[in-house]
Amino acid sequence: MDVTIRTLTPLWTGNVDGTMDRIHEAGIIGSLRWWYEAIVRGLGGWACDPSKHECPDKDGKYCDVCRVFGATGWRRRFRLEVVDDTQAIWDDPDRMLNIRPPDRNRGWFLPPGQMGTLTLRLDGDERTLALLAALFLFLERWGSIGAKPQLGYGVFAVENRDQVQQWASRWQWNAMGDRKPDQALPDLRRFGFFRYRFRPEKPGWWTQVPGIRRVATQVQPLVTRYRTVPISPALKNEWRFHEWQRRWGDDRQIFGSLRPERRRSRVAVSWAYSVEKREWEVRGWGWLPAEQDAGQHLWRVLINERVWAETLGTTGGMSTLQAASVSDVQRVLEVVKE
Ligand SMILES: [Zn+2]
Repeated sequence: MDVTIRTLTPLWTGNVDGTMDRIHEAGIIGSLRWWYEAIVRGLGGWACDPSKHECPDKDGKYCDVCRVFGATGWRRRFRLEVVDDTQAIWDDPDRMLNIRPPDRNRGWFLPPGQMGTLTLRLDGDERTLALLAALFLFLERWGSIGAKPQLGYGVFAVENRDQVQQWASRWQWNAMGDRKPDQALPDLRRFGFFRYRFRPEKPGWWTQVPGIRRVATQVQPLVTRYRTVPISPALKNEWRFHEWQRRWGDDRQIFGSLRPERRRSRVAVSWAYSVEKREWEVRGWGWLPAEQDAGQHLWRVLINERVWAETLGTTGGMSTLQAASVSDVQRVLEVVKE
């Protein structure tokens, strides 16, 4: 099965040293696995904690994820080869784009990902390929591939949609058990997804986004050539430092931190990408904390249209916000078959 994808935001599958010389299969497989774990848990199935070497268990059984993606003593059920026709969005791999909204000292550092098309050539048994096809269609709609989803990398469109749909039609997402959510591990039942579409009034709208003006000469070629704008830092800055209130919970647990320990953000938001001639889109997700109040506060922050409009400067223009907080996992997964 071939899945040909076109990047909408840069794809990042970096080396350990923080640079990236090509698309790494392992980086793509890692992201597929992460999402499949969240789905399996969301469907009540067993997805082991990859940091704890739980598979196989004492009876020699493997979890629903390891059975597809492999573990010690069990081979991955598919092979992936990448036919790469992408290019780095700027040449110097060591140069970071530093986006610093006006009220920040340090800001965000964005590495050069790859843009273009790539074909993922997948080999395996029919059932596994059908599952992967369904997974790709879900990620095309709501997720991303590769690393750094929190900074907005890896959003894509499937180019050979008919073929992938056909494979996916042989797959049915079914309940996989009755396990309750473990709050330490990603579980689709605790996710909310959002998508904001807007039609800016001026072509130069992006220069007004907080933090972009300072680096406008670096961003301009990305807009002209790849039709994408790194607006994720501006939105995260608003959400974290202007909208989130400390009394709702520790912002480092929600939005990530480097110290005292590295903690990944539970919120991902893409760069803006052009969808039609004059329309742009941004999307992302939140992994909502289990504590009822904190989860609801975070969700309300993420889908507050006023913040979107003010940050992106779309007040007055046409815009829509679509949001899905996942209480019915199968519905969100089935959506891809529309
Ligand atoms: Zn496992």
